[in-house]
Amino acid sequence: MAATKTLLITGVSSGFGRALAQEALAAGHRVVGTVRSEQARRDFETLATSNVIGRILDVTDFDAIDGVVGNIEATVGPVDVLVNNAGYGHEGVLEESPLEEMRRQFDVNVFGAVAMMKAVLPYMRGRRRGHILNITSMGGHITLPGISYYCGSKFALEGISETVGKEVKPFGIAVTAVAPGSFRTDWAGRSMVRTPRSIPDYDGLFDPIREARRQKSGRQLGDPAKAARAMLDVIDSDSPPAHLLLGSDAIDLVRQKLSLLAEEIDEWETITRSTDG
Ligand code: NAP
Repeated sequence: MAATKTLLITGVSSGFGRALAQEALAAGHRVVGTVRSEQARRDFETLATSNVIGRILDVTDFDAIDGVVGNIEATVGPVDVLVNNAGYGHEGVLEESPLEEMRRQFDVNVFGAVAMMKAVLPYMRGRRRGHILNITSMGGHITLPGISYYCGSKFALEGISETVGKEVKPFGIAVTAVAPGSFRTDWAGRSMVRTPRSIPDYDGLFDPIREARRQKSGRQLGDPAKAARAMLDVIDSDSPPAHLLLGSDAIDLVRQKLSLLAEEIDEWETITRSTDG
C-alpha cells in the first residue's frame, strides 16, 4: 500500500467528496472532511471507526477558513493533500440570470477554492511537500448554452490551478485540476441552482437542454467511486499531472473542442499575425 496520507476534502456530504473520503479511508488514509451542518458532520464521522474527522465549514465563510485549517494542522496533523471539491452548478441563460447568481457561483467554486489553497499553502510550503486537487469540470474546457456562470467558474479554476501549480512546484507542491465529465452525484439534482425562465426567445435553444439534464440526473455515465479511485492513483503518483480528465464523455468532448479550436486558430492565422510591429 502507498504511504498513509492526511487528506482534507471540502464537501463530503455527497457525490465525489463522499466517494473520495470512503475510498481514501478504505485505502488506509486519514480524512478530514468539511460539511455544512452538525448533523452532516456526525453522519460523516460514522463512515469509519478511526481516521475520519468532520469539520463544519461553508467555503464562502472566508474569514473562518484560516482558523479551520490552522486548527486541523494543530489538532489532527499536517495536511498532505487538499481536495477542493465543494461546488455546485448554476443553470440558466446568461441574459435571464441575475448577476447575484454569478457572484454566488464564483464565491463557492472559485473564491472558496482559492481561499482554501491560500490557507494550506503556508504549511505545505514550510514542509516542502503537498498536493492540491481542484475539482473543476469538463465544463472548465468545453461549453454548452445555459451554463455560462458555471463554465466561467470552472474555466477560472482551471486557469488558477495551472498557474499556482507553476508557482509552487519549486517547493515540492503539486497542483492537479481534475475535470470530470457527467457523474452520478447530486450535482444536477438537489444541488443545482436553476434560474427560472423569463425570455421566450431562448425557449427553442435552452428548454431541451434543461429538460435533458433533468432526465439524465442520477443516470449519468460516470461512477463516483471509480472517479475516487482514479484520484487516489493520482495522489499516489510521484509526478501528478497538472490536468486530469475523468470519463469518456470528458475526453471525447474536450478532444473535439481542442481540434475545433486549432482549426479556428489556423483559419484566422493571417489576421492574428497581422498585428505585430
Ligand atoms: P454534490 O453531490 O452536489 O456534492 C457537492 C458538495 O459540495 C456537497 O457536499 C455540498 O454540501 C458541497 N458544497 C456546496 N456548496 C458549498 C459551500 N458553499 N461550502 C461548502 N460545501 C459546499 O455534487 P458533486 O458532483 O459531487 O460535486 C462536487 C464537485 O464536482 C463540484 O465542484 C462540481 O462542480 C464538480 N463536478 C461535478 C460533476 C458531475 O457530473 N457530478 C462533473 C464535473 C464537476 P451540502 O451537502 O451542504 O450542499
